[in-house]
Amino acid sequence: MRRAIFPGSFDPITLGHTDIITRAVTLFDELIIAIGVNSDKNYMFSLEERKAFVAKTFENEPKIKVMTYKGLTVNFCQDVDADFILRGLRNPADFEFEKAIAHTNRKLAKIETVFLLTAARTSYISSSIVRDVIRNGGDYTVLVPESVQVK
Ligand code: ADP
Repeated sequence: MRRAIFPGSFDPITLGHTDIITRAVTLFDELIIAIGVNSDKNYMFSLEERKAFVAKTFENEPKIKVMTYKGLTVNFCQDVDADFILRGLRNPADFEFEKAIAHTNRKLAKIETVFLLTAARTSYISSSIVRDVIRNGGDYTVLVPESVQVK
């Protein structure tokens, strides 16, 4: 079974993430959206909220699962028996950053990282921009799937 994980903070999930996920789902038998828990990060949305937004977005897609994890991504891959890590590339800065991580992960655990280029129409979207729009009262709904609701 070809199983991949798509790791990230998803704080919150955006239309950039959903573009990568819906295009990648055809490449794998199972895709686990893996929400990382990093105690050094200050999140806008709680882990439960982030997980609920992702789960609701893909509730009708049986190949997609949502899980949370702590620690090294490669260790989580081994725990769930995944051979691939999926990442999205938006720009050259993403590439430089992701290149070092992908080499490290292959060295540590022989995990292959699969990169998809973002669709042009969502390549500018990032969770940090969405959080900024939310904080300042802007219309965040045009940047995120419908499941993302700010209370
Ligand atoms: P991280 O904290 O790991 O950067 P993110 O939730 O920001 O977590 O991103 C998770 C993954 O989604 C990364 O591979 C990132 O490149 C990708 N991604 C983020 N925004 C977009 C976008 N607009 N289009 C495509 N991929 C994206």
